[in-house]
Amino acid sequence: MILQILHCPHCHGTDIVRHGTTRQGKQRYRCREQPCAGRTFLLDYSYQGQSPEVKQQIVDMAMNASGIRDRARVLHISTNTVLGPYILDRCYCP
Ligand SMILES: [Zn+2]
Repeated sequence: MILQILHCPHCHGTDIVRHGTTRQGKQRYRCREQPCAGRTFLLDYSYQGQSPEVKQQIVDMAMNASGIRDRARVLHISTNTVLGPYILDRCYCP
């Protein structure tokens, strides 16, 4: 048996419980750490644009003045996905 220690992608905590499966049959997990208050996550997102790491990269690249199409190409996601967080960082980071 392989014991895998899971870390929450949001708070990096380890108090994780299984929380059903997605429509694609992937295991969903729920974080019980205080900062997350029951947020759920998947270990293996079918679409990279949904993963918190990629969303953070989109925002990081925006800070470095990368264009929307640059970011979509580098991260292998659609320009619409890039546009979501881009609009947010325009609002909160003048
Ligand atoms: Zn968490």
